[in-house]
Amino acid sequence: MSTLPHPPRQLYYDGQVQPATSGKTFTTIDPSNATPLAEIHVASHSDIDSAIAAADRAFPSWSQTPPVARARILQKAAALLREKNDEIARIETLDSGKAYTETSTVDVFTGADTLEYYANLVGGGGLNGETTQLREDALVYTKKAPLGVCAGIGAWNYPIQIALWKSAPCLAAGNTMIYKPSEYTPLHAQTLAEVYREAGLPAGVFNVVYGAGDVGAYLTAHPTIAKVSFTGQVSTGMKVSGSAAGNMKYVTMELGGKSPLLILPDADLENAVDGAMMANFYSTGQVCTNGTRVFVPASWKVAFEKRLLTKMQYIRPGPLFDEATNMGPLSSAIHHEKVTSYIKHGIETDKATLLYGGLGKPQVPKDLEAGFWVRPTVFTDCTDSMRIVKEEIFGPVMSILYYETVEEAVRRANTTELGLAAGVFTKDLNQAHRIIDQLEAGITWINTWGESPAEMAVGGWKNSGLGVENGRKGIEAWVKNKSTLMDMSGAVVTVFAKL
Ligand code: NDP
Repeated sequence: MSTLPHPPRQLYYDGQVQPATSGKTFTTIDPSNATPLAEIHVASHSDIDSAIAAADRAFPSWSQTPPVARARILQKAAALLREKNDEIARIETLDSGKAYTETSTVDVFTGADTLEYYANLVGGGGLNGETTQLREDALVYTKKAPLGVCAGIGAWNYPIQIALWKSAPCLAAGNTMIYKPSEYTPLHAQTLAEVYREAGLPAGVFNVVYGAGDVGAYLTAHPTIAKVSFTGQVSTGMKVSGSAAGNMKYVTMELGGKSPLLILPDADLENAVDGAMMANFYSTGQVCTNGTRVFVPASWKVAFEKRLLTKMQYIRPGPLFDEATNMGPLSSAIHHEKVTSYIKHGIETDKATLLYGGLGKPQVPKDLEAGFWVRPTVFTDCTDSMRIVKEEIFGPVMSILYYETVEEAVRRANTTELGLAAGVFTKDLNQAHRIIDQLEAGITWINTWGESPAEMAVGGWKNSGLGVENGRKGIEAWVKNKSTLMDMSGAVVTVFAKL
C-alpha cells in the first residue's frame, strides 16, 4: 500500500486500469520541493504486447466508425477536458513544476482545442479524398485510410498537451494509440484515458504504458506498430526514427531547437524585450521553440540591456499555486544538473558576460528550497562559437548576440544544424516577410513569440524534426492514401490482342 499523496498508476489498456507484471516501479516527484508524488508501475514487454493487442483488436471497428460518429466522441472528450481544466492543471503543476497560472490557462485548453479542431475537421469531411476525371470514361479516386496501431511518445515539458496533440489527430483519423508519457511527468496519462472513456471512446482505442527509454524503444520497434509520433531530444529522435525507418513505419519527429529571434533596428524596444523574455523564460525556459539566440542591433546594446534588466525583476519564482508566481522550478533533478552545468560552462569556459542570474537558486520559501530551482539567466556579448549558443539548454538561459547588419544576423541565425523555430521583430512588414523567407526553420513568428494554436501546422526543419503536428496538414501524418483508377469504357486496352 503506497503512502504517497497520490494513488499509484498501473497501466491502462482495453478500456481499464491493468496491473503491470514487471514488478518494477518508479516514483514521480514534485519538482518544486523534491517530494515524491506517486508510484508508477513499469510495463513489461508482455504488458506492452497486451496493450498493443488490445489496440489491434479495437482498430477494425474504430476505423470503420463513420468520421462524424468518431467526431462526436472526441468533441465530448474536449468538453470534459475543459470542465475538468482546474483539476487536470493541478496535476500538471504538481508533476511538471509549471506554475498553476500557466497550466490552468494554457496546457489543458490548448490540448482540448486540438481535440476539438480535429474532431470538427474529420466530422466536416476533412478525411475526404479526391476524385479526378481522367477522361470521359475513366476516373481516379484517392481515399485516405488510417494507419493502424500507432505509438505516441511524449516529452515532459507539456505533458497533457503533447498527449492531446498526438492522440487527437490519431484517433480522429481512425487509428488506435499506445501512449507512453515521459517518466518524469506521467500523472496526466490515466486522467486523459479516463476522460476518453467517459466520452464514450471504445475500449482499446487509447491505451497507456509507463516506463523509461527501454519501454519506448520496445514499443516503437514492435512489428504491429504502424507509426511512431515522437516528441523529445534530437539524439533520442534519431535513434527512434532510425529504428522505425528500418521497419517501414511512418514517423513524426518533434525535436529540439536553438532558435534565433531577430530584433531589427526599427523594432519597438518594449515589444522586443517582452518578446525576448517570453521566448526564454516562459515555462522556465522549457519550451522546444524557445528563441534562445537573441540577435540585437549593436547600436541597441545600452537601451536593450537596461530595459531587459528592469523587466527581469518581474520574473517571480515561488509557490506554484500562488497567483503571483510566474516561474516554476526545472522539471527534475537530472535536468537541473544539466541546465546548471550549461550556466557554469557559459561563465567559466565560454566566458560569456553574465548580465543577470547565474548559478545558485532564486529566493523561494523555505519549504521549497529542496526543489529544482534555477535563476533566470542572461548572457550578453555572446559569440556564435560558444557552447551555450550552439546547444539546446532547455532552461531559462538567454544568449544575446549583437550584430551590425541585418544580412549578417540572418546568416548567423541560420548557422545551426537545428531548424525548429525563428522569428523577427520589426515595424516593416515587407522586410519581415523577406527575412522570414530566408530563415531556415519550420515555425516562424513576426512580432510575437511562442503561440502555437491548433490551426497552425508546426514542425522542425533540419535536425529539429520530420513532419508536422496540428493544422490541416497535421491530419495527413495519420493516414495513408489509396488511389483507384476506374475504367468505364467496356474494353481493356491491350497490346496482346492479336498475333
Ligand atoms: P527525451 O528524448 O529524453 O525523451 C522523450 C521521450 O522519449 C520520453 O518519453 C523518453 O522516455 C522516451 N525515450 C527515451 N529513449 C527512448 C528510446 N530509445 N526509444 C523510444 N523512446 C525513448 O526528451 P525529453 O523528455 O528530455 O524532452 C525534452 C526535449 O523535447 C527537448 O529537446 C525539447 O526541445 C523537445 N521537445 C520538442 C518539441 C517539439 O514539438 N519539437 C516539443 C516539446 C519538447 P523517458 O523520459 O521516460 O526516459
